[in-house]
Amino acid sequence: MQAAMRGICKMSAGPGYEYRTDLPIPEIKDDEVLMKVRATAVCGTDMHILAWNEWAANRMKNLPIVFGHETAGEIVRVGAAVTNLKVGDRISVETHIPCGHCFSCRTGNMHICENMKLFGVTEPGAFAEYAPVPAGCAVPLAEGVSYEMGAMLEAMGAGVHGVERADVKGKTVLVSGCGPIGLMAIGACRVHGAAKIVACDLFDEKLALARTMGADITVNSGKEDVVKAVLAATEGRGADAAIDISGSGRAIVSGLRSLRKGGILVSVGLPNGEIPIDLTEDIIYREITYTGISGRRMFETWDDCMDILRAPGFSLEPVIGGVYPLEDFDTAIGAIRSGAPGKMILVP
Ligand SMILES: [Zn+2]
Ligand SMILES: [Zn+2]
Repeated sequence: MQAAMRGICKMSAGPGYEYRTDLPIPEIKDDEVLMKVRATAVCGTDMHILAWNEWAANRMKNLPIVFGHETAGEIVRVGAAVTNLKVGDRISVETHIPCGHCFSCRTGNMHICENMKLFGVTEPGAFAEYAPVPAGCAVPLAEGVSYEMGAMLEAMGAGVHGVERADVKGKTVLVSGCGPIGLMAIGACRVHGAAKIVACDLFDEKLALARTMGADITVNSGKEDVVKAVLAATEGRGADAAIDISGSGRAIVSGLRSLRKGGILVSVGLPNGEIPIDLTEDIIYREITYTGISGRRMFETWDDCMDILRAPGFSLEPVIGGVYPLEDFDTAIGAIRSGAPGKMILVP
């Protein structure tokens, strides 16, 4: 194996990154595998890391570190204690690294482990030629799933988990936010048998993609009233379920008010700070269920994603915004900052 590798690195606390060509090939522990990275997608989290906001500063104490976590590749080395994976296996990676012994882990909820480590945030990640992956977080790719698709599964899983929680079969569903996760959630709603899908976003380009992914009705929430549009689409009753991917306070409140009595709102997107909600009118009197989801259920959601990928008529192709060589990281993040739709993927 080569002596050094290329990678995108956070060298010290503060905004920005460095593209390095002299990084050591990661050493692996006994319970890890070494993955040759084939594709890594850029996530909103990476944008927080680049900007070095409070979220990133509070979590990334382990500098310098290669970041990037939405990834897929091929195993080139396995640790001494790894028995379930072998060299040559094609994998994606679950970002949540659970401890295995806390209350959540021991009661079937390791995706919300109380001692969670994060691949590509607190631990070394995958904007590089090689990445160390905990064997328990490696997810074998189903046959026919490309590395680019594999790199989108982690983000897709967040949307799919929201769809699972909203239990959309036969229901009218509002999806707020048509970035990559929203688009994949819309496709998942379709495969899961939603009766009618209403999608909203501020950008018409993203709404066009939402229709491609299966939305029946799209609403530009900068120009139209989302609540009115949903009521018009449901004979005045309101949607059965709403999934918020946007994290926008305004969208969350419209989501609540778009629901019928007894409906459910699932929050996937992260708001910046606190949001004022009228609990009495918008939740209590109307018996609304409001819940969040964090990441993917391990590993039911991953299985669900693999099934969705192979469902007739479903394609992730429209969600790919661009594929760039690793050294063109700047171009990829420039595209995201300019509001370009779809997922940007880097190939080392
Ligand atoms: Zn992510
Ligand atoms: Zn745990």
